[in-house]
Amino acid sequence: RKIDEGREQDIRECIGCNICISSWHDSVPVRCTQNPTIGEEWRREWHPERIARAGSAASVLVVGAGPAGLECALSLGRRGYEVTVAEAADEIGGRLRFETRLPGLAGWGRVLDWRRGQLERLANVNIYRGNRLTAEDILGLGNTHVVIATGSRWARLLYSALEIPVGRIEGPGVFTPDDIADGVRIEGPVVVYDFDNYYMGSALAEHLARLGHAVSYVTPAGHASAWAIMSNEQPQVHRALFAAGIALHTLSRVTGFAGGDLTLANQFTGAATRLACKSLVIVGARFANDFLYTALSARSQEPAGIQSVTRIGDALAPGAIVHAVYSGHRYARELDADPATLTYRRDAPLGRQRGTGMPGLAANEDLEKLP
Ligand code: SF4
Repeated sequence: RKIDEGREQDIRECIGCNICISSWHDSVPVRCTQNPTIGEEWRREWHPERIARAGSAASVLVVGAGPAGLECALSLGRRGYEVTVAEAADEIGGRLRFETRLPGLAGWGRVLDWRRGQLERLANVNIYRGNRLTAEDILGLGNTHVVIATGSRWARLLYSALEIPVGRIEGPGVFTPDDIADGVRIEGPVVVYDFDNYYMGSALAEHLARLGHAVSYVTPAGHASAWAIMSNEQPQVHRALFAAGIALHTLSRVTGFAGGDLTLANQFTGAATRLACKSLVIVGARFANDFLYTALSARSQEPAGIQSVTRIGDALAPGAIVHAVYSGHRYARELDADPATLTYRRDAPLGRQRGTGMPGLAANEDLEKLP
């Protein structure tokens, strides 16, 4: 229909991330990075093209213009709210600004491109770039609702034999993806230590190899980018790493790093090995960047006219881009909504078995009423 009406620019182009197929592998409700309403048409009655009008004359300040903040601002704007977006960087996009420069991820820029194009047509959404707000600034702006969408930061943590991120490691030569994004100078040989297990570790290893560094990839998992088996990308990841000449060390934990020497332990036997390493890039845990939320919560008694302060996306719970987009969309859908309408329906296929002799099963209609 959009093509028939000459509205090609309104089509949310697929980015090829395969998050949709990962939902099937994971046996969880289907999700789509580009379209957060996918899988919620029946459960939450989210129509992909229709959204309720604003439930009040409230104004909303969205702090942060990454995937969550942009989706939130766009959906709030479509509802008719007055929305202000404050982005600390000179460009919008958040994590997408760096991640779309990594090998194989350029197509993910459509998450940003589509939202930017749609937002440019909304007169009630104003985006301010290069505006790093403090809690004091926000209290003085007089918005009704404040949304904190300030993302997350990668941590300099190691990983225990019990598969828990522990043991902060500092010092020269220890980096995170945030440092690489900030343009820090890296010296080879480089070891990318990945226990995030999705795309960042392998994409970063390939990126650093393309820059001319000797790169090794170390992971406690049995494969590179172990979770990418869910998105059907694992074979391509391995082919790309081997083609780039990157040495793989699986089932291995980093236990020490000093003097150009990295110590590894086998995840199951504990047997120690050593690798030459000048730069260790840790791709493991992330922590929410929620200091503004904490600062505003501490001042919630001040009469600034703010009715709510809410974290969304990675600032609430660091995850994949799909989760950030969903989180931003959900906030926008639910603002000023009647709480009675927010309960989602549950799939209850067993209920349909009633009458086939299976005792104790309620009818499907009854199961749908469960909270
Ligand atoms: S989840 Fe990713 S691959 Fe699947 S339809 Fe959405 S954008 Fe495309």
